[in-house]
Amino acid sequence: MNIILLGPPGAGKGTQAHHLVDERGMIQLSTGDMLREAKASGTEMGKRVAAVMARGDLVTDDIVIGLIREKLEGDKGGGFIFDGFPRTLPQADALGQLLADCGERLDAVIEMQVDDDALVDRITARSTCAGCGAVYNDNTKPVPADGVCTNCGEPHEFIRRADDNEQALRNRLMEYYKKTSPLIGYYYAKGMLSSVNGLGAIEDVRDSIAGVLDA
Ligand code: AMP
Repeated sequence: MNIILLGPPGAGKGTQAHHLVDERGMIQLSTGDMLREAKASGTEMGKRVAAVMARGDLVTDDIVIGLIREKLEGDKGGGFIFDGFPRTLPQADALGQLLADCGERLDAVIEMQVDDDALVDRITARSTCAGCGAVYNDNTKPVPADGVCTNCGEPHEFIRRADDNEQALRNRLMEYYKKTSPLIGYYYAKGMLSSVNGLGAIEDVRDSIAGVLDA
């Protein structure tokens, strides 16, 4: 099963993708994570996208489509979770083509609905495990006092993302509404869209997503 988790920054896509990886053996393909890795390892492409990401703008379609193309050639596990991709209509068209080229198809697109106030609260309180990417929140799921990640069981640094600040977030939200939200109509028209309330407790959102996938 190949699915897209669609929603604005802070909707909980990464958190829910981690559950699906653990519970269903699916493979999370987060273009944001791939770009941060490229930046951290100092590749040419990583250097080119660093300033764009810090501002909260979108990087070019060619770059992210290339990243996804490479991953689709590898292990397919229990299916792919596209997290943060596609973010534009050309990316959505490209994904359809890339999947068809490797004999796969998209099974579901799950829109995670949240309101903007909740997003600001979540994002400014967010940190992630440097080892496994598990997401923590100062208010609802604080970083463990002993510094050992509850997801991977290892002691790691817990990182605040450079673009999790108010100015960049305002830009990221604007990019989402202008360029990504049209995908809701795009996948609705294809009969693939399901929407879940992303505002509830993590477990409730997880159950709603399971309900869609098992339907
Ligand atoms: P994310 O971790 O998904 O919030 O992505 C962090 C940043 O990476 C975004 O604000 C963009 O600058 C960039 N990015 C991630 N995925 C994409 C994509 N599919 N298209 C364009 N830019 C992306």
